Formats: sequence, structure tokens, C-alpha cells
Amino acid sequence: MLSSRYDHSQSSRTLLLLGDDDALRSTACRALEEAGFEVVEAQGLAMIRDRIRECCPAAVLLDLPMRWTDGMDLCRNLRQSLLPKDVPILVVSEQTDLETIRSAYQAGATDFVTKPIHPDLLGHRVEYLLRSARALSDLRTIQNRLALAQRVAQLGYWEWDMKANRLYMSETCQRILEMDNPDPEGALHQFLGMVHPEDRRKVRRALLASIERKQDFHMNHRVLLAKGAEKYLGHEACVQLGEDGEPARVMGLVQDTTERWKAEARVRQLAYYDSVTGLPNRAYVLENLAQLLDPFLALGAQPVLLCIGLDHFRRINNTLGFQAGNRVLQIVAERLKTASATLGHAHPQAIEEDGVAVPMIARLGGDEFLLVFTHTGSLEAAKQTSKDLARILAEPVMIEGREISLTSSMGLGLYPQDGNDPESALGNTSAAMNLAKKRGRNMCQVFEREWSQKAQFYLTIESELRHAIEQDQFILHYQPKVHLGRNRVQGMEALVRWVHPKLGTISPVDFIPIAEQCGLIVPLGTWVLRTALEQMAAWNAEGLGDLCVSVNVSGAQLQQPGLDSLVMELLESTGVPAHQLELELTEGLLMEDTDRSIALLSRLTQQGVEISVDDFGTGYSSLSYLAKFPLSTIKVDRSFVKGITTNRGNAAIVSATIALAHSLRLQVVAEGVEEQPELDFLRGLRCDTIQGYYYSKPLPASEFASFVRHFDGHSRLRAA
Ligand code: C2E
Ligand code: MG
Ligand code: MG
Repeated sequence: MLSSRYDHSQSSRTLLLLGDDDALRSTACRALEEAGFEVVEAQGLAMIRDRIRECCPAAVLLDLPMRWTDGMDLCRNLRQSLLPKDVPILVVSEQTDLETIRSAYQAGATDFVTKPIHPDLLGHRVEYLLRSARALSDLRTIQNRLALAQRVAQLGYWEWDMKANRLYMSETCQRILEMDNPDPEGALHQFLGMVHPEDRRKVRRALLASIERKQDFHMNHRVLLAKGAEKYLGHEACVQLGEDGEPARVMGLVQDTTERWKAEARVRQLAYYDSVTGLPNRAYVLENLAQLLDPFLALGAQPVLLCIGLDHFRRINNTLGFQAGNRVLQIVAERLKTASATLGHAHPQAIEEDGVAVPMIARLGGDEFLLVFTHTGSLEAAKQTSKDLARILAEPVMIEGREISLTSSMGLGLYPQDGNDPESALGNTSAAMNLAKKRGRNMCQVFEREWSQKAQFYLTIESELRHAIEQDQFILHYQPKVHLGRNRVQGMEALVRWVHPKLGTISPVDFIPIAEQCGLIVPLGTWVLRTALEQMAAWNAEGLGDLCVSVNVSGAQLQQPGLDSLVMELLESTGVPAHQLELELTEGLLMEDTDRSIALLSRLTQQGVEISVDDFGTGYSSLSYLAKFPLSTIKVDRSFVKGITTNRGNAAIVSATIALAHSLRLQVVAEGVEEQPELDFLRGLRCDTIQGYYYSKPLPASEFASFVRHFDGHSRLRAA
């Protein structure tokens, strides 16, 4: 209270003189006034108190002994309650014995002079006293400000006296570390004991190194507090040398960076991790792959990048919704993690122990995952690992009460041989995976370096595709469809081929997806429709029979306004009756924009055009769902036909599909029938129509006509 009312003005020149020795009082007063001070006097405790309050003296001169009180008691009283801490008390005494001097200092005297006083010296003495009092007060103010600044900035200060092995910690430092008045002798030990066990070695090492090299020390580390909480600290320290030039003390600042660290961790998590699976994302892989694989390469191991794409994943999203899709991705991520744990650990040492290590699993985006494993075996061993993984991923998944079979297409690339920077290694492995998808899915494709040439070609394919229509580089092949009951060629599927002037015939599997991506599928699709109908008109004129041509239609064509009027115009201009045209749409296509598709297809079927569902069974739609569409036929995908005689699962699916389709009055075409036993089996299931190499590959128009005549001639002969 007193100090807050007391005027600490440093310019105060008022001194309070207390004493009853008249000779001293007058000598002192004169001397001090000559030195520029104003002297006030007081007798009795009440008056002393009043004077102090009124004049706020810069110092007190206490002349001992006193008649009215014990001088030492008064001195103690002044020091403890009447005066602020930093107002000096100069004791003047005629006793010069050590005991008196000691008790004066103990009672709170700042300085001690003996009588008789030297008038010329007294002013200087007081002046000096005031100066050191001011310096002390300034120092205290600075210390207070510093402590306040540290508290506000949450900066804890510590100082380790190396010789005495004592650790001083500021209040803020103690608060940050949740230590309560630690004993300076044991504090260093206690503090190091709190450093997180995983960081302890690095903190000790950094501290020792900075002492040894007489250098500053900066580091971030964790501490485990007494109550078990974990904190992140930013730590700076510097070494102070003693007179001998050797480190004498270390002074440090600690800052609680837990909140900042958490915020940064959240940002890192968002930027580098996938929110659905929690796995690292593509950005993380690109930034960390090289650094992660270097130690493995140094051990002579071979890193393998395995890019895994889930087959037909888009259909899961389209038919069962995004949540189901996300669930599938999570299950795949879990399976990859579990599988990798049995393969080997992520650490380079694992390579020495197990021969295989899995340093990274990531989700690259969409349905693409990356598994990086390194091994000491051959490429065959790596391929075997990818097969094992494919088997694990293929285990059925239960989603919303439905059992979904997942297959995956994989691309395998070696690092750094197949791209010596993460970007190209990843790009090449993805390219291998995409090729596996194009080649029929559910397989692993190893990257081949010769592809770079081909890849170059695929880059230019888009611009070449644009000219291919004008330059008449497309042709249609026709694959017969044979009706089993009537034993007659019922129609054909028109399948496009690109006869490239330099590269020869290119499969639609390779260019249709590109044409779809760049929108060229629309003019190409129109060309296919027109050409197929013109061919039909020619065959009609030749009297080849009442055949039906199936034309594949892509998503972009379906989205294009006026597909129905285009079809009707072409039918009219070629003079082909509508019932001789069938449009094939894939199951996945029908799942998008359902209402619009139903309306469009209904307009076409009202005119007599037939609609069939291509690749049935590869999506997840049910037949009863598809019954909403005006369909006439479904085509069972060839992946179900393959091995139908040996694979009981496929046989059951096809058998159920045929039975249900018939109950919905739909015709069933089996695609990809290659062998007699498959044909017999399908006949047994009362499949209506067969399309496949068993009868014929897709043929050029003239060969197709010969095929029909030949086939029908034979069947007439057989019937006769
Ligand atoms: P898709 O519509 O399912 O056509 C059937 C594919 O299976 C054809 O391949 C055909 O040659 C092949 N195939 C037929 N029987 C067998 C068999 O017994 N065994 C085997 N292994 N394969 C058989 P292609 O001609 O390479 O066409 C592939 C895909 O390209 C087509 O699949 C279709 O999705 C697309 N496509 C072809 N032409 C066109 C077109 O004009 N427009 C559009 N949008 N897509 C087309
Ligand atoms: Mg088709
Ligand atoms: Mg098909």
C-alpha cells in the first residue's frame, strides 16, 4: 500500500533526518542543504509517519542512539513497514563496535557512518546512496518488466549454474512445466526427467554439443508433465563463458508451443493426409518418397511401387452412394495395412530380417492406392507379393447388407529404374495400372520401359483422333449374334477399329476412353451409327435377312441433346426400319441421370428401336432396378461366361440372371462365348443368344455377309 502512494520521483531531494543529538542535526542539516538537499525532521512515531507520507523522502538519516526509542527498533520498523523497500536508510552512530554495525544492517540499514561526521563527505555519501538506490530500483523495474513480458509471451526463463549445479527457473518456466518451487539442486535432473522419452536422447545430445562447442541451442521437443499431459516446447539456450573462457552457465528460454504445434499438425493432416482413410495422400508421397527410400537403396534393397486401382469403383458410388463408396475405401485401406504388417515393417532393418519392408501405404486419389514395398528378392518375388495382395483385397465386402466382390487392377514399377524422381515413378506405375484396367482388369501389369515410346504416342493420339474421322481411318467390324433356339444369325454388334496409317489397327479399348475424355466420341459415335445403318441398308437391299445391328453408345452421346432425333433422322435417311437397330448401353451409364435416360430411351423404343444393357453384372445394379428402363435385352458380361462350367459362383449368377430376365420378359445375350462346353452350359440355362469367338470374331463387312450365308445355309441343311 505504502509503495503505491509513495512518490518515487527520482528527482526527490528531500531527506528525513531522525535524531535528537542537536549538534549532529545542525551540522548535518547545514552540510546537506549545502549539497542541495532539503532536510525535514521528525520526532515520535506518529510524526515520522506523517512526514514520510507528506514528503516522501528520498532517504532517511537515522542518528543513534535515541532518547525516546530504541534506535534499532525504529530502523527495523522503518525498513519493514514505514518506508518502501528501495528508500535507503543511513545510520549514523557514535558506537563503532562490530555488534552495533551488524545489528544496524540486520535491522535494515543501507549504510552506516560513525560520528563525528565529516560535513563535506556527508553530502557525497548521501548522493552515492541515492544513486545506488535508484540503480537498484531501475534494475528491479527492468526485472519486473522482463518477468511480465515473459509471462505475457509465455516465455519461461531458466539458468543453470554449471559449477554449483543449480538450476534457477522463472515463475513462468515453472508454470509451463507445472513444477512447484523446484529445489535448485535437483531441478536439472528433474527437468531432464520430464523430457519425453523419445526426445530425451536428442535433447541431451544437443545440450552437450552446445556446451562443448560453446554454441547456442535451438530445438523443439516434448515433455511429459507430472500429471501425465504432454506438451510441446520450443527451446532456445545459450552458453555463457566464465572468466577462464570455459562454459560457466547455460541460460535458456522455453515456450509452450503445444497449441501452435496442434494447429500445424491439423494443417499438415489436411494437406498431406486423406480424410476418408487417414492414409498419406499424393502430395505426401511426392514430397517424401525419395527421402523415405534412400536408406533402403543404401542397403541394396529394391523398392517396388504398386499402384492399386479398384475395378468399377465408380459404380459402387453411383449405385450405393458415396458413403458406401467411402466405407469400401476404408476397408481397402485397412486390408492394405493389415497385409503390409505381415509382409514386413516399415523400418530399413526389416529388410535385413524379413527380406521385405513396407515403408509406405497411401491413397493417391479416387479409387487409387499406392503400396511401396522394398525387397531383396527377384521381380518374380515382387509379382508374387502383388498377387497375394490382390487375393486379400478380393475377399467379399459387406456393405449395407450386400456382398460386394472387389477386384483390383495393379501396376508395378521399380524405383528408381522406372522413373528416378517420385513424379515420374508414380506416373509410370499409374500408367501400368491403367493398362491393366484396359486389358480386362483384375490383373497386375509390370511397367515396361519401351512404353515411353508408346506413351508418347498416346499423348499425340488425341490430336490424331481429330483428323482420323475426316481421313476415313475408322472401319466397323461386325460380330455375329446367334439365336440358339432358331439356330440363326439374329444380328451383329458393330465394333469400331482405327486403322492408323503407321501403327496399324488400334483397338477401341485403347482409343474410346480418350475419345470419351476429349469429347470426340460424339462425332465418332455419329459416324458409327450412320455407317452401321448404311451397311444395314446395303444388306437389306441384298436380302441378307431381317438382321438387327447393335451399336454401342457412350455416356457423352447420351448426354448430348437430341440423340433420339439423330437416331430417327439416320433411320429415315438410310431407310432401315427402327426394329433393326439396337443401342447398347452399359449398366453404369444407366445409373447416371436416371430420369432423363428413361425419358430419352422411351422416346426411342416407342419408335421401335431396341435397347440392351451391355456388360451386365459388372455394376451393382439389380435387375429389378433396371426394369424401370424400357429394355429389351441384357448382355451378360464375358467375365461371367469365362469359366462358367468350372466356377460355381459364375454359374449361379448367370443362371439366376437368365431366370430373372426371362420373368421380366427380357432377352439374354451371353458375351464372350469361346468354348463348346460354355455354349452347352448356356443352352442348358435357356440363354437366348450367343455372341463370341466360338461362332466368330468381329468381321469386316464382306466377311460378315459370307459368314451369315454360310451359317444359315448350314442350319437349313441341318434342319432339312
Ligand atoms: P463390348 O461392347 O462389350 O464389346 C464386346 C467386346 O468383346 C469386343 O471387343 C469383342 O471383340 C469382344 N469379344 C467378343 N467375343 C469375344 C470372345 O469370345 N472372347 C473375347 N476375349 N472377347 C470377345 P472390342 O471390339 O475390342 O471392343 C471393346 C469395347 O470397346 C466394347 O466392348 C465397347 O465397350 C467398346 N466399343 C467398341 N466399339 C465401339 C463403338 O462404336 N462405340 C463405343 N462407344 N464403344 C465401342
Ligand atoms: Mg457392346
Ligand atoms: Mg460387352
